[in-house]
Amino acid sequence: MIVLKTAEEIEKLYAANQLVGRTLAEVAKHIKPGVTTKALDRIAHDFIGDYGATPAFLGYEGFPGSLCTSVNEQVVHGIPSDKVILKDGDIISVDCGTKLDGFTGDSAFTFPVGEVTEEVRNLLNTTHNSLYEGIGAVQAGRRLGDVGHAIQTYCEARGFSVVREFVGHGIGRDMHEDPQVPNYGRPGTGSLIQDGLCICIEPMINLGSKNISMGKDGWTVQTKDGKPSAHFELCIAVVNGKARLMSTFDFVYDVLGKNQF
Ligand code: MG
Ligand code: MG
Repeated sequence: MIVLKTAEEIEKLYAANQLVGRTLAEVAKHIKPGVTTKALDRIAHDFIGDYGATPAFLGYEGFPGSLCTSVNEQVVHGIPSDKVILKDGDIISVDCGTKLDGFTGDSAFTFPVGEVTEEVRNLLNTTHNSLYEGIGAVQAGRRLGDVGHAIQTYCEARGFSVVREFVGHGIGRDMHEDPQVPNYGRPGTGSLIQDGLCICIEPMINLGSKNISMGKDGWTVQTKDGKPSAHFELCIAVVNGKARLMSTFDFVYDVLGKNQF
């Protein structure tokens, strides 16, 4: 069941998501060769707590971290660990969730660690830009298939593949609400886009084939061919027929420097 949100609820959703954007930026300051994913997790955990919020991922279906940290061929849901040490040339998807005043924030950004290859840089840029292609397709009266189609065509035209098994989602008081928001699809199909619809759009795009497998820990999703995967996620609400951003990468851009994408 899709729960459309009131203007008041959308303001609360906005606040929770702005905090995610700030948390991602705080984490971004510390991403460099030699740092562990567990150290990043601690930074996010404490930062969220300092704002009087709670990490939405911690304990969610038993997940042990405040962040999902997915390195290189890991697609999503990587578990922060003292044993995972970032090195030059890696990429890391940092996915973060918050609970604030009863509402949920959820957003993800894939960062380069030091210098990455041109091919990987292209994967990051394409995935990042495809998210905005998807957001640009959000319009009352259209359908979520239009959003997925925009992402899919943008990425496939550039030689990358779209993960099918994991998708975006509705969001509100719960982190995962209806409807599902696939990153592929046919125009004119799927759930109707209308005012009050609040969703996370989160393309997961692979350098090689679209096929994935589950890691031994039961959480980490990885590419079957071992090639890198990127993941970017923003939360939007449909207001006056158009997407209004709830989460933002603006704080992250401030840390990375402009013109990264
Ligand atoms: Mg997320
Ligand atoms: Mg999400």
